[in-house]
Amino acid sequence: RVFLDHNATTPLRPAARAAMLDVLAASGNASSVHADGRAARGVVEAARTAVARLVGAPSAAIVFTSGATEANALVLHPDLEIAGQNQACDVLVTSAVEHPSVLRGHRFPIAQVESIPVDADGRLVLDALEQVLAGHAAAGRRALVSLMLANNETGVIQPVTAASALAHAHGAVMHCDAVQAPGRMSLDMATLGVDFLTISSHKIGGPQGAGALVAAHPHSRPRVPLIAGGGQERGLRAGTENVAAIAGFGAAAVICAAQGGEEAGRLRGLRDRLEKEIVERFQGSQVAGAGVERLPNTTSVIFAGLKAETLVIALDLAHVSVSAGSACSSGKVGPSHVLAAMGVGDAAAGGAIRLSLGWSSCDEDVDVAIAALGRVVPRLLNRPVRAA
Ligand code: PMP
Repeated sequence: RVFLDHNATTPLRPAARAAMLDVLAASGNASSVHADGRAARGVVEAARTAVARLVGAPSAAIVFTSGATEANALVLHPDLEIAGQNQACDVLVTSAVEHPSVLRGHRFPIAQVESIPVDADGRLVLDALEQVLAGHAAAGRRALVSLMLANNETGVIQPVTAASALAHAHGAVMHCDAVQAPGRMSLDMATLGVDFLTISSHKIGGPQGAGALVAAHPHSRPRVPLIAGGGQERGLRAGTENVAAIAGFGAAAVICAAQGGEEAGRLRGLRDRLEKEIVERFQGSQVAGAGVERLPNTTSVIFAGLKAETLVIALDLAHVSVSAGSACSSGKVGPSHVLAAMGVGDAAAGGAIRLSLGWSSCDEDVDVAIAALGRVVPRLLNRPVRAA
């Protein structure tokens, strides 16, 4: 099978699997004082260091969670501590194209949430952000800004560094959901200038069920736990750590951190070939966000006159895995909120599929996908395809 759905989840890297199997063969609780417990603690702390290195943060500032959804819910709360100072936030300012775990998973009262529009290419309108932040600052309200680094559906990269500068100029706190970035683009918290960052294990070749909230400063944290209990993870996310998943996350983080730009270049080569073939062969097909900087592994293609669900099933039967819009929203009826925010009409958005590549992708995958599309799309459209 050809798996072109790395933005939904990545296959487990062999090194992550090996690290997990080692842990599964042991029996310690990371909070126990005996040797078994200390061994488990050692695994968790080594993974913490690896994840910290991946994003350029102090390891003391990492809270392991069950994934990015939990990390986003943990940090998107009005009561925060920044560099040791309590900072109560009055409003959450976010973008129209955020992941549902931000849009629906935050812990603010609904009336205190504001959404900034994006342009036709899916990039945040910075002037609109500035206006909103200036308004809140003038009224004495502190904002928490949450902006994703790269969109999971389109791969469009947001101007996070510029947004952080604006946020801080207006006394706001800045959070970034960077889930889709590691291994695909450079990622450094200091460069981004954010106070908090979210990442997820299963988007970087680690297992599902682990993620992290990272703070830029060891004394920055949400003040209200997501889960209260035994005090694990700085008292913010109680419960016995999932040591095996965290170990796999750490192993995947080590590989991503070592990759530099080469892997991103390889993915870009594959993605560009795939995209070029599609646009050339299929009349009326169109790439969302084509005009701006995007992740090198992602393409969201709108096929005129097709239903994405039908195309996804036909490709599945041809042994090619892709998503309609985002996997997270594919179970529900209705077009993607991301494409809608970009001004794509319902009919066109209904024909969008996302192809996303990753560490396991190779030239042959692209060949197979192109051949499958060449068989399937004309059949669904019931008209001949242009010769390649
Ligand atoms: N944010 C973004 C941008 C994502 O793509 C995803 C996964 N689809 C999440 C958050 C949620 O991550 P997790 O599955 O680890 O909860």
